[in-house]
Amino acid sequence: MPERAKRIAVFGSTGSIGRSALEVIAASGGRLKAVALSAHSRLEDLVEQARRFRPKWVIAANAKAADAFDWKGLPKSCELLKGPAALVSVAGEKDVDVLLAGIVGSAGLESTWAALESKKTVALANKETLVMAGGLIGELVRRTGGQILPVDSEHSALFQALKAGRASEVARLILTASGGPFKDLSPADLQRVTVAEALAHPTWTMGPKITIDSATMMNKALEIIEARWLFGVEGERISVVLHPQSIVHSLVEFVDGSVLAQMSPPDMRLPIQYALEYPDRAPGVAERLDWSRAMRLDFEPPDRDRFPAIALGEQCARAGGTSGAVLNAANEAAVAAFLDGDLHFTEIVPACRSVLSAHNFEPNPSLERLLQLDRWARQEISRWVCV
Ligand code: NAD
Ligand code: MG
Repeated sequence: MPERAKRIAVFGSTGSIGRSALEVIAASGGRLKAVALSAHSRLEDLVEQARRFRPKWVIAANAKAADAFDWKGLPKSCELLKGPAALVSVAGEKDVDVLLAGIVGSAGLESTWAALESKKTVALANKETLVMAGGLIGELVRRTGGQILPVDSEHSALFQALKAGRASEVARLILTASGGPFKDLSPADLQRVTVAEALAHPTWTMGPKITIDSATMMNKALEIIEARWLFGVEGERISVVLHPQSIVHSLVEFVDGSVLAQMSPPDMRLPIQYALEYPDRAPGVAERLDWSRAMRLDFEPPDRDRFPAIALGEQCARAGGTSGAVLNAANEAAVAAFLDGDLHFTEIVPACRSVLSAHNFEPNPSLERLLQLDRWARQEISRWVCV
């Protein structure tokens, strides 16, 4: 047992990743401690979590919702902070060892940036941050000595398998994809899918935005870009393979043809725990494979016509520059419009492609420029929305 607990700021604690992270922390036998919790909505859940975990800071990112909320149930020992600036200040606090970045979308960028600027470790679930600004974040990490540990299951798998060889010995990264709920639908059936059908993922239970991304396969596009920046492997050497059981979480092929995989049941608590306990491994709460039962592992190449998002991900991973930020913002806006019933499922990817091709590409943008383009791309998507 270490002398003192590793102090974790759990941002997005009321979400799917945040709740799983708190389960991991609760089961860590005191090795991990939640020192900060944050949420945007569902503030009653946030209070409930604060009563259980007694963090130093409780952050309500939406100041307006926070002002309207009755905080009388919050323990007196917790300091309540309101608004997005509080995420930035707590991320850099000396009493935080690791930021668990579980906020969804570009709203997670600033706090991750602040943590890395303060040389902290970020356990990164929020892939959108790397998709938007992976090049600049890489420079920041090199400058400050901060560290990113992947939480996304595919990238956690790659991170673990990459330990088997040197960077110069890696031939290819292979990301697995379940294929989502619509893997076998005809183009005509795809035209008719509803929000409820798109929200029903066959193997993972996740927040609404990433669940829709999984149905369009935009999630895999974002993960190609995420892998490109995390591991410094060019887009040309990152492949996608369909694997409907979601047991092999990704694979690394080395120059001699040897392929290493990481396997476990689909349970995000394992990659979260791996990142929070790193560099140690510890017994935990995640489900285990049952080797006493027969099991099948299927792999097949994705149908690239059915899932045109993959090509967009490859394009942005190759191009870098401003393209990731534009794709990410267009997709966030398009998914929000779909969830609101204002955009057809089959229009999400074409809308993103059209915004991407309309933007003026720049190879070396500043963070400010990326944030401007993020706003621009969201406005462009509004032209696609049926009112
Ligand atoms: P979720 O919707 O369940 O939770 C999102 C959390 O972020 C909530 O706590 C919410 O209150 C907070 N939030 C939302 N908008 C915010 C804003 N504007 N400012 C501050 N906080 C805000 O999402 P999730 O499924 O937990 O996903 C979180 C991130 O992790 C995403 O980037 C997703 O791509 C990534 N991820 C999730 C999974 C998964 O299994 N859920 C797997 C891999 C990666
Ligand atoms: Mg993933």
